[in-house]
Amino acid sequence: MNVSVIGTGYVGLVTGACLAEIGHHVICLDTNREKVEMLRSGRSPIYEPGLEGLLQKNARSGNLSFTTDYQTACDKAEIIIIAVGTPSRPDGSADLSALQDVAEKIGSNVRRDGTIVVTKSTVPVGTNRKMSFWLDAHASSAGSFRVASNPEFLREGSAIHDTFNGDRIVIGTEDDYTARKLEEMVAPFEVPVLHTSIESAEMIKYSSNAFLATKISFINEIANLCEKLGANVEDVTKGMGMDQRIGSSFLQAGIGYGGSCFPKDTNALVQMAGEMEHEFDLLESVIHVNSKQQVKLVEKAKEVVKNLTGKRAGLLGLSFKPNTDDIREAASMEIIKRLVDEGVGVTVYDPVAQENAKAILGDSVTYADNCFDAIEDQDMLFIATEWEEFKVLRLKTISRLMKTPILFDGRNCFSLDEAESAAIDYYSIGRPPVLHSTIKTPHSSE
Ligand code: NAD
Repeated sequence: MNVSVIGTGYVGLVTGACLAEIGHHVICLDTNREKVEMLRSGRSPIYEPGLEGLLQKNARSGNLSFTTDYQTACDKAEIIIIAVGTPSRPDGSADLSALQDVAEKIGSNVRRDGTIVVTKSTVPVGTNRKMSFWLDAHASSAGSFRVASNPEFLREGSAIHDTFNGDRIVIGTEDDYTARKLEEMVAPFEVPVLHTSIESAEMIKYSSNAFLATKISFINEIANLCEKLGANVEDVTKGMGMDQRIGSSFLQAGIGYGGSCFPKDTNALVQMAGEMEHEFDLLESVIHVNSKQQVKLVEKAKEVVKNLTGKRAGLLGLSFKPNTDDIREAASMEIIKRLVDEGVGVTVYDPVAQENAKAILGDSVTYADNCFDAIEDQDMLFIATEWEEFKVLRLKTISRLMKTPILFDGRNCFSLDEAESAAIDYYSIGRPPVLHSTIKTPHSSE
């Protein structure tokens, strides 16, 4: 099939590459010329394992090309997939301006009747109905378009694997022909397909993200209680997860969720509920718990080190989770901001997200070339992302390198046994701290 994808971000690019890989002729459009030039030269503007290889392979075979021109993208397309951003507005609602702009451009550039326009961007319930209106308002004849909602569930860091091994593909449309064509398009992925109404498809995306965010905030609150009551959250989650009604996924305690989806989508769902005069108390609490959790390590550091001013800290991990360079709403950013405000000199390191972070943090921090340079000679160390590269470090090595071996681990990267045998004061989430009174730290005499 001839498919066009509008927006070459994390979702659009992966979708385009994977559809090309299963044999479709795909044109990806983005208004960002620099991105499109980069893609044409075979380089990926984002870090996503396996993506660059897939882009190059399918560009070589002629199945995948890139453009900034709507006419080129619309000319032959039987199906047009929209994957532009829908960021949060200041009040938490979703900003649909890019989506509307795309709809209007598709409306005025498509010449063939019956073109299917699919929204993959996460959009509030009711948006795809508006989509029909936006398209028709600019179309050469009314009713030229068939519309469907096809929310995306990929996870950054394993997006290609997720596309080929997803749990479900949701197709929301009332039009049988559209439902059949879309099912045909994705059939080679061999992922179960669920057909729903447009509204239900839109709602499935928000409720899925809200539920996962709820699991995270729930276990983080349990972790906080574990610390106070002397329990170990890892044993607790193991015990909970053995109950098949609960399951063990998304029960890792830490410093909260981030990224471009959970924070934005939970806020948008609260907004949507508010517009219907429904108070979504549960979700509001989930959001509140998460924002406290993101800065928990700074609060701990203040308790332990007392006066942070003038101290030096290393911070490992800037991306909101491992295997991505995405720093949107990452806990690391909030931690760094608080530390810098407290007068701490911060040195950061991330294997791939450093360049993205520079655009936000500027020269407020020092950038290390490797994790050892971020650890060496520091008064304290923070871990904000559980990159494998950090998890394989030995605590004894970290302890030896630091000026004062105090580690605040926001992702529980190390076992308490290892911490016991290393000369380091180790604070993690939901587990008892491991302290070595023999360490002569400047704060111990304060
Ligand atoms: P992104 O910010 O990485 O990419 C969006 C792209 O759209 C950018 O390349 C931008 O240049 C382009 N763009 C913006 N306006 C445009 C226009 N008018 N015409 C053409 N291109 C335009 O966004 P993303 O992370 O890929 O997310 C896209 C959508 O998918 C969002 O609604 C998001 O909530 C949803 N989603 C994201 C993920 C994820 O893990 N990132 C997962 C599921 C769903």
